[in-house]
Amino acid sequence: MNCELSGNRMQDLKHKKIARLPESVINQIAAGEVVENPASIIKELIDNSLDAGAKKISLSIRGGGHFAIELEDDGCGMSPEDAALSLERHATSKIRTAEDLFSLSTMGFRGEALAAISSVSVFELKTSDGHIGTWIKCRGGAVEETLPCARNQGTTIFVRSLFFNVPARKKFQKSASSSVAQVTKIVELMSLSRPDVSFSYFSDGEKVLDLPSQSRKDRVESVVGPLEHFAEEPSLWGLFSCPSQAKSHRRGQMVFVNGRPVFSPLISKAVQMGYSTRLKENTYPPFVLFMELDPSSIDVNVHPQKKEIRFSNESECFQNVERFTAGVFISRPSLNFTSSPVFEPPPVFLFKEPEVTYVPQMEQKSFSLEIEEKPLAILGKYCLMEKEGWILVDLVRARSRVMADVLKDEKKQTQALLLPLEIEIDDSTIVNDLEAMGVECRWIGKKKIAVDALPSVLEPSDFPHFIAHWKEGKAIDRASALMCQQANRRYSLEEAIHLWRCLQNCQDSLYDPLGKKIWEKVALKDLESWMSRG
Ligand code: ADP
Ligand code: MG
Repeated sequence: MNCELSGNRMQDLKHKKIARLPESVINQIAAGEVVENPASIIKELIDNSLDAGAKKISLSIRGGGHFAIELEDDGCGMSPEDAALSLERHATSKIRTAEDLFSLSTMGFRGEALAAISSVSVFELKTSDGHIGTWIKCRGGAVEETLPCARNQGTTIFVRSLFFNVPARKKFQKSASSSVAQVTKIVELMSLSRPDVSFSYFSDGEKVLDLPSQSRKDRVESVVGPLEHFAEEPSLWGLFSCPSQAKSHRRGQMVFVNGRPVFSPLISKAVQMGYSTRLKENTYPPFVLFMELDPSSIDVNVHPQKKEIRFSNESECFQNVERFTAGVFISRPSLNFTSSPVFEPPPVFLFKEPEVTYVPQMEQKSFSLEIEEKPLAILGKYCLMEKEGWILVDLVRARSRVMADVLKDEKKQTQALLLPLEIEIDDSTIVNDLEAMGVECRWIGKKKIAVDALPSVLEPSDFPHFIAHWKEGKAIDRASALMCQQANRRYSLEEAIHLWRCLQNCQDSLYDPLGKKIWEKVALKDLESWMSRG
C-alpha cells in the first residue's frame, strides 16, 4: 500500500518541471519571515518612518491590526519613482553594498518589508517628497492603481485585511486583544528608542499612547514608570529598578543598542550580575539600558526581524555592562544633606546597657566622628533620625550591611573568646574559608572545631546561626543578612548611631545584602498625605 502511494507520488513529481516562482509568491514566502503578525508589521513601518527622519508618528489600528493599520509620519517622503520602487523586493535606499551592513545607521536595510507587507494585504501608500504626492493602491502584492494626490511631505501607509490571501497564516493569528498587547509593547519599545520623536497610538478609536517629544528620562518615566537608579557614561545610559522591585519575569528589561531595541540574554545576564546578591533568586529587575557601540563591532543581520544582534567582543561587552550596573549601587551614599550638623554626638561610646553587646568594628581612620542626622527615637528595630524631614532606618538591615562589609574586608579586628566555641562541621575545606574571614579555629575532633577568636562584628551567640546560613552557599552577604534577621535583638540609640556611622563607610549604604532598603526619607508632605487618609 505504502509502495503504491509513493509510486503515485513519484509519477506526480515527474510531471512537474522546475519553474521560477512569480514575484508575488516569492514575496509571500519572504513575508513569512518578516511579517509574522500586526506587531511585526508595525515595527517595520515605524523603522521606516524613523529612517525617513520623522519627528511625529501617528498610528491607529483596528481589530488588533488584523482589520486595519494606518501609520502616518512627517518624514522625508518619497518621489513618485521611489514610491513605486519601494514596493519591490530588495529595493532600498539604505545600503548599496554588503560592506554597508557593517556601518549601519538605519533601522532597515533589507528592502523587504514593504514588498512583504503589501503581498499579504490590501495595501495603500500615500507619500509626498514635498513636491509631488503619490498614491499607490495594491492588493496581494499587485499594484492596482497609481494616482497623484495632495499630501504634505511625509508618508501614510494603510494595511487592511491582513493575510486575506494566506488563509493558513490567518488561522494562526492571535486574538485581537493579545495582538493589541503585542502592538502596544512594540510601540512602547520604539518610542523609548527615540524620545525626541512624538508618538501617538490609538486602538479601535481609543488613545493608548500620546507622547510628546521629550527627554530620555521623561520618556522612560512616561512609558515604563519610575525607575529609581540612574547612571550614565559616554556609551552607556541606564535606569534601573530597586532590587526589591525585581519581578519573576524579564518583561521589564529593555536593551537598546545604537537606538535599536534588541533581545539580548547576554546583556540581561550582565545586568543581573551587576545587581549581585541584592536580588532574590530567580527574580529579574526591570531596567532600560542604552548602549552606543561602534557599528562595526555588532552584527544586526542575524535575525529576520532584526531583534537579535551579535557582539564581536562578547566578554568585553558583558564586563562593561556588569561594571556599569554594579556602579549604580556603589555610588549611592550621598544623602544630599546640606545644612550644618545639629547633633553633637557623645565623645566616647560606652555601651552601658547590659543588653547591648554588639559593637561593629570598622577601620577607625575612615569614619568621621560626626553625623549630621539627629537621632530621635528607637521603636523596635527602627530608628528615627531628623534631617530636613525624617529618616527611618531599619537597624536589622543596617547591621547586616555593615556586618557583610566588615567580614569581607581584609583588615578587621578580632576578639578572643573567653570560652572557645565548639562547632560541628562536615566539610573540612570550610576551615580555610573561616580563617580568611578572621575566625581563629582549630580541629578538636574529626568533625568538630573549637573557635578561639571571632571578628569583633560577630557575637559568639550569633556565630552558630551565621555558620549555618553561610555553609549553604559560602556567601557572606546572604549569611549576614539571614543571621541578622534571625537575631531578635534590641538596639539602643547609641548603637543605632554607631551603625549609621559605620553604614556611611559601606560602598552601598542604601541596600542591605538582600537588596532591601535600609533607610527611607520621610518628608513632611508624606506625613501630610498619610494623615489626610485618616
Ligand atoms: P528597507 O527599510 O529595508 O530599505 P523597506 O521595504 O522597509 O526596506 O522600504 C523600502 C524603501 O522605501 C526604503 O529604503 C525607503 O527608501 C522607502 N520608504 C519606506 N517607508 C518610508 C517612509 N515612511 N518614508 C520615506 N521613505 C520610505
Ligand atoms: Mg524598512
